Order: sequence, then structure tokens, then C-alpha cells
Amino acid sequence: MFPLFLYSDNPPPTLVMEEVVGFLADLGLLVEFRGDFLNYLSLAAGEMAELESSLSRVRVFNIETPVDFFETHPPSEPFEKELYDGFWIQRIFSRFFLRKHPGELVENGFHAVITGRLLGTYGSRRYHARVIISGFPSFISTAGLVEGPARPREYYFLKAEFVRSGKDLSELDEGFRGKFVDYEDERITKITGSYVLQPLLHHFSGKEFCEDSKCALFNSHWQKEVLDIQYSGFLCPECEREIRKIAKRR
Ligand SMILES: [Zn+2]
Repeated sequence: MFPLFLYSDNPPPTLVMEEVVGFLADLGLLVEFRGDFLNYLSLAAGEMAELESSLSRVRVFNIETPVDFFETHPPSEPFEKELYDGFWIQRIFSRFFLRKHPGELVENGFHAVITGRLLGTYGSRRYHARVIISGFPSFISTAGLVEGPARPREYYFLKAEFVRSGKDLSELDEGFRGKFVDYEDERITKITGSYVLQPLLHHFSGKEFCEDSKCALFNSHWQKEVLDIQYSGFLCPECEREIRKIAKRR
């Protein structure tokens, strides 16, 4: 059977990996959760320092400027809070991964890291938060679930009002509680299970999304869609067939 390897990286406390694994195993997939990604890499002290230095270079300093890895920033320079360039993060992690476990790529498994880091990709003159970065390894960002899909339009309308009048934004968030995924949301576990399937299907079929707006592989743009569609974990018959076909591969 084709193996699917999962790792976690700074996960939110509400993410229950056993349930994510269970959801995927129910689709016939052979899943192995390997725990914390950095532990799995087991980097020596020198390598750890190298990794940290690399990661600090791919933080987004200005949301309208693509990250330049070779540009150094003074440590005191402010940067966009915890937003990283997703493709650079992938490049850095894949380099360390292959250095530490060179045989893994040969075995041709699927590797996905569930990360609490906020990842973005640059396009249309600014960074956009992403839930998924497909590739080796693939990333599913739980912070991206919160920041990527848009909140209800009224939220942004009211936010502008709150900002204008200097009111506390946490009050606004309270009013919309439940209508978007929050950082310590209990629903993150079920939603994450659905999102693991997207880079998996992409890896095998090149197909990124499903057109069926009830299917977990639908490309949700709104929080409401994520909370309805990905939370349900439902797969349309065609996608379920494809996933089960992947599960039977060798
Ligand atoms: Zn589908």
C-alpha cells in the first residue's frame, strides 16, 4: 500500500492528530504520523542554527514585497507577524529533510507537514495567506485556515468602523465567534483532515480542486465554505474513488 507520512510543526493545542489519521485511514489510506517534524529531522546543534537562520530570512517583512532570501535584515527590523514565504519554507525544509533522510524520496511516499506557521504566497502585488502548499513536503497550515479564507463581508465592513472609532477589535471577533475558524478552534481537526487530501490528490493526478461545492476537495474561498464543506469531510463519489485508487497504489 502507498504510505502517507504526516508530521506536525507548532500545531495548535486543539489539533488531534489521531483523529486526522483516523479520518484518512477510513478512506483506505495507509497513514503514519511521525510526530514533530523537527524531532524527526533530528538536527545537530550546528544544523539547527543553520535552519533557524534560514527561517529568519524567509519571514515576510513587507506584505507587498516578495521575500529575498539573500537580503539580510537587522534583527530589530519589524516584520509582518509570523508570516513566512510558503515556497521558501518548503525549499528549506525539503533540503534538510533530504539531507537527513536521503532514502525517503526514493521510497516515493507522500509527506505532509501540518504546521501552525502562517504561510503565504506572493501574487497580484501582495502576499496571500495559504492553507495548502503542495509539493515535497506538502504543508497544511492551520494558521492559514484562520487567515486565508475570507470572513463574512459584514465583518470587514464593521472592522473598518471599529478601527475608525478606535474600538477594541476583540469585541468584534466576539460578535462573529463561530462564523470563522479561530486559532484554538475545536473544528480545526476535522477541517485539517479534509485539507490533507488536496495536496495528496494534486500529487497523483495534478488535479487541484473539485468543482462540486459539497466535496472536501472544493476550493473554498470563504470561511463559511470551509466550515460547511471541509468540516463535513464529505467526498463526492468521483473524488472518493480517486482517493481509494491512490490508497491501493504501491
Ligand atoms: Zn470531489
